[in-house]
Amino acid sequence: MSIKESYQIIKDQLPEGVQLVAVSKTHPVSAIQEVYELGQQVFGENKVQELMEKYPLLPQDIQWHLIGHLQTNKVKYVAPFIDTIQSVDSEKLLSEINKESGKHSRKIKVLLQVKIAAEETKFGLEISEAKQLFQQYINGYFPNIEITGLMGMATFTDNEEQVRKEFLTLKKLFDELNQLKPLKTLSMGMSDDFPVAIECGANSVRVGSAIFGRRDYSK
Ligand SMILES: *Cc1c(COP(=O)(O)O)cnc(C)c1O
Repeated sequence: MSIKESYQIIKDQLPEGVQLVAVSKTHPVSAIQEVYELGQQVFGENKVQELMEKYPLLPQDIQWHLIGHLQTNKVKYVAPFIDTIQSVDSEKLLSEINKESGKHSRKIKVLLQVKIAAEETKFGLEISEAKQLFQQYINGYFPNIEITGLMGMATFTDNEEQVRKEFLTLKKLFDELNQLKPLKTLSMGMSDDFPVAIECGANSVRVGSAIFGRRDYSK
């Protein structure tokens, strides 16, 4: 199937109001350009170095989302242009983004990444930590950023009930924080589980392989 067909199939499955972040990691700029020309403006990458190589070669009105684990010493590279950092998993990182965002007189959007998966390997804040950070944000600790929502990844499993349970945990936290200060974005769901994520309340999904095809990490 062509990228164009795959993209259309995904778009057709998204209810109105659900944002698509096209995850282009490992795929060449030519493929990103192709999807951009179909009307897609929001793309996600998970590595700073890869993003820095692609960014100058592509249209400047692309909204780049960083979705992978970010080291504090790399924030400065993306701060001038990044639209949203979805993978904020520590206070240290949030402080650094706040600092760099201020230097560029920007207000970088961030999502708090919350650990909802049972797996050990996944990055993310504990629910209690996310609440604490959000409270600090409300109290004015991070004036140069905007926390626009939450991001989470479910366990990689065929067990749909488990995936659903994890997504609903994040939705519950989202609703709770949203009472304290309105949030916009609940980012959950990838190629294999985005329909479940949407059923559980996601309004932003991060879809890579279902658009661009399988990733080849050997290159
Ligand atoms: C790679 C990645 C995705 C997209 O995964 P697919 O299964 O290819 O859709 C989504 N979110 C994060 C955080 C990722 O690293």
